[in-house]
Amino acid sequence: MGMSEKKNPNPSKFETLEVSNFLRQIIDADLAARKHAKRIDQAGQALPSVITRFPPEPNGYLHIGHAKSICLNFGLARDYANAPNGARCHMRFDDTNPSKEETEYVDSIIDAVRWLGFDWVQNGVEHQHYASDYFDQLYAFAEALIEAGKAYIDSQTADEIHKNRGHFGQLGTNSPFRNRSPAENIELFRDMKAGKYPDGAHVLRLKIDMSHPNIVLRDPVIYRIRHAHHHRTGDKWCIYPLYDFTHCISDALENITHSICTLEFENNRPLYDWVLEALKECGVFKDPLPKQYEFARLNLTYAITSKRKLLQLVEEKRVDGWDDPRMPTIVGIRRRGFTPESIRLFCERIGVSKADSWIDMSVLEQALRDDLEAKAERAFAVLKPLKLIIDNFDDQAEEPCSAPKHPHHEDWGRREFTLSKELWIEADDFMVEPIKGFFRLYPPKDGQPGSRVRLRHGFVIECTGYDTDANGQVIAVHAQYFADSKSGTPESNNYKVKGNLHWVNARNAIKAEVRIYDRLFTDPHPDSGDKNFLDAMNPNSKEVLTAYLEPSIADVQAEQRIQFERHGYFVADRIDHTSSNPVFNFCVGLKDNWK
Ligand code: ATP
Ligand code: MG
Repeated sequence: MGMSEKKNPNPSKFETLEVSNFLRQIIDADLAARKHAKRIDQAGQALPSVITRFPPEPNGYLHIGHAKSICLNFGLARDYANAPNGARCHMRFDDTNPSKEETEYVDSIIDAVRWLGFDWVQNGVEHQHYASDYFDQLYAFAEALIEAGKAYIDSQTADEIHKNRGHFGQLGTNSPFRNRSPAENIELFRDMKAGKYPDGAHVLRLKIDMSHPNIVLRDPVIYRIRHAHHHRTGDKWCIYPLYDFTHCISDALENITHSICTLEFENNRPLYDWVLEALKECGVFKDPLPKQYEFARLNLTYAITSKRKLLQLVEEKRVDGWDDPRMPTIVGIRRRGFTPESIRLFCERIGVSKADSWIDMSVLEQALRDDLEAKAERAFAVLKPLKLIIDNFDDQAEEPCSAPKHPHHEDWGRREFTLSKELWIEADDFMVEPIKGFFRLYPPKDGQPGSRVRLRHGFVIECTGYDTDANGQVIAVHAQYFADSKSGTPESNNYKVKGNLHWVNARNAIKAEVRIYDRLFTDPHPDSGDKNFLDAMNPNSKEVLTAYLEPSIADVQAEQRIQFERHGYFVADRIDHTSSNPVFNFCVGLKDNWK
């Protein structure tokens, strides 16, 4: 029987009850007021009362911070499925920036969200959208705002625009082009679109208030000229809309009810509302308009979540790519052995609030440990091997032994293996000069016998000596076994030992590459203040070992997680592992012993 990862037998323990948060309270109030109950789409179909969206910019790989946003947005859609007309979450690519976006990133984002266990299909309809799909509408709405006297073409240089915006405590100055007529503005805007001007010659700005206390509202730029190729629209456009204009309109076009973003957009909320109200006055949209709500982003200790810095780690080859198991990217933590369930559990545990805070890395690690404890089969793995020779064991004998696949699930069956004269044990389990409290293997000394330990699921042995090489390195340990001490037999109870060691049979153990990972940074806040995050890189975050594993490991499939007894949880590497060349990555230890 092959080893396989079991479904969590006690899912209720892990899929915690819906925890209330301020966003749920808002949604509950909206549902009670039937705020979105009577909406219909263009085809006359009733629209869900709750529609959220996850709007990544496809300019990098998603990371654990995005997972928080994904679990929040898709999680709300899942949890409000019973709202009137249901609920859904849209997958939206915010791809308005032509040069930075790539199809590779789009594909990786889709993979990551699906892997986390979410989809964007409702009643057979796939709700995957691209802001670039709205370029025609965005353009038409911009013309409508120009016609309404709410937008104008500014021909100041970028520097002048920046300077004349003022800053906190200093009012802005009106552009000399602010009072162009709608007719002149329309003509200029059309010529911008037709490619008659170079980058930077003009921009389209909203006409709001250059002395507004909120700088975001000081006539924000909503279109700029960029003669650049776009990954989806090709060379059709040479003018591109900016985020603040695009995002609220995309939400309104998709009938989003609750547009959830991180706190740094709080100042942009009045602009979000201004644009939609202005377009409502133009007859484009009607109530209820989507509303923006902000929550605190995830800050994780011992990690960085800046796309730019993650890219730097990859480009400078300080890690082995985006999916290096030490990276906080979704592809990285997946390769490290994290399960989708563990990430969702983590996101539930950290909750959602409006106050910025730091979450300790140990919370993420604990979520994985809690998920894997009940799911992962056990196996013996000797990571730093030392030969053990049982001198009184028959040269040819192969003693059959077995152990449960999981100590609490006898129903999962047993692993079968054999014990012979030569075994591999952990080098750390032997000490020539035992320190106080060391109950594992040590040799006879000063007339005292060597220590006695149990080989788990095998026999009790007594250490009789050891061999060293020319440098004094221990290369083998010798022992005697007690034939009547076999685990599971009544006589075995006559032996009381303090040490209980794992081992593998040197005759049939499977050799494997095992990669031991530690945190990528030694500083809990590697990029805070004016620190250079590269200075905080942990030089010992990766160690590659040649280990010996019990034979049942031969059946393990790539991406399967196993508990190596006494060591922790490991995953068969999803890229490099094969049955003839096994490769395991360390996921997390059995206990939190990070100091
Ligand atoms: P950029 O600086 O490139 O915009 P970003 O991290 O904001 O980077 P986006 O692709 O725009 O990346 O993010 C998509 C969504 O994920 C946004 O709604 C954003 O608010 C959310 N998000 C990004 N980082 C975090 C984080 N650390 N915690 C929670 N949500 C996040
Ligand atoms: Mg962003």
